[in-house]
Amino acid sequence: METKRIAVIRGDGIGPEIVTQAVAVLERAADRFGLSLAFDEAEMGGCAIDRCGQSLPEASLQTCLRADAVLLGAVGGPRWDGVPKENRPESALLRLRSALGLYANLRPARLMPQLADASPLAPAVTARGVDFVVVRELIGGIYFGEHRTETVDGQPVATDVMRYSRGEIERIARTAFETARRRRKHVTSVDKSNVLDCSRLWRATVDAVAAAYPDVTVRHMLVDNCAMQIVRDPSQFDVVLTENMFGDILSDEASMVTGSIGILPSASLGAGSRGLYEPIHGSAPDIAGTDAADPIGTILSAAMLLRYSLDAPEAADAVEAAVAAVLDQGFRTADICPAGQTPVGCAELGRRIADAV
Ligand code: NAD
Repeated sequence: METKRIAVIRGDGIGPEIVTQAVAVLERAADRFGLSLAFDEAEMGGCAIDRCGQSLPEASLQTCLRADAVLLGAVGGPRWDGVPKENRPESALLRLRSALGLYANLRPARLMPQLADASPLAPAVTARGVDFVVVRELIGGIYFGEHRTETVDGQPVATDVMRYSRGEIERIARTAFETARRRRKHVTSVDKSNVLDCSRLWRATVDAVAAAYPDVTVRHMLVDNCAMQIVRDPSQFDVVLTENMFGDILSDEASMVTGSIGILPSASLGAGSRGLYEPIHGSAPDIAGTDAADPIGTILSAAMLLRYSLDAPEAADAVEAAVAAVLDQGFRTADICPAGQTPVGCAELGRRIADAV
């Protein structure tokens, strides 16, 4: 049996606590489904700055480049806020994504029935179901265009360039259509084509790519309308495809609809099967070391790793079912624990989920 190598970046703050639980769940899933996994530790973030002065040491980058998948906790914290920008823990993450060629960010937003009360939306709205994925372009657009500040007529003027090529749009559109094929087969492509040239190219390119996916329906929506529709009726979405900046904003809005930042996973994918899997939250320095962190976002990221990089959908299903089963039994960490109930710690919740796999 071929051994799959997983680079493990524990990172800072709650990172080590939550990753320990996710690795234990992966080991259990590997046992049950006959997978052979090897875990290679890679240091990145503030801990790496403390040890060797570099937020992304070359050895860690090489470990990730050799791996079939990368599992990441979170990096950063106030201790390293004074570090020069190019060596900040967060810029290590941007460099890693770019070195791995990860152009597609997948963020599922699913309101688990057990946590329906955690959503800030009215019960009448969430009763129709919330289960969609934002597919965001990750390494193009305005975040990667030219940034310039100059003085014009005696005052500062700033310019940020939004730029997309047809090829960049085609590849992310294909990711969205492939994702839709594994789900309810409906893509909503989000743009601002009433104003932006980039969006007009986006729309035309998405329509061209759609021709190869006759089994998937596609519609176009302006980004301002989409922001409104996500809170008005999230049940209408299956796959939301959009460019980098719109996706940054919409995916945070989508995550709030599901109630807790601690339970949401994400995957960043490129051309091959290698991906980077991480919870959507940060290193939560305010609760680090207290065993209060919710490991579910990282464990569900591990489920995405099984599905997308290791092609082990049964194992992914089993991990997701184990999370649901433990929530059904009433166990929760403090972030999602209703008033009056006693929360369990990160380690206990992780152990219960691993046992349920
Ligand atoms: P954060 O997501 O770390 O925390 C926001 C709030 O949510 C905090 O109150 C925290 O306790 C809580 N929270 C987050 N994850 C939780 C979990 N799993 N269980 C329970 N509660 C949880 O955001 P922040 O405070 O703005 O950032 C802290 C640090 O993390 C910063 O240095 C930031 O740059 C970094 N960060 C890293 C990443 C990443 O590694 N991908 C992402 C975002 C922020």
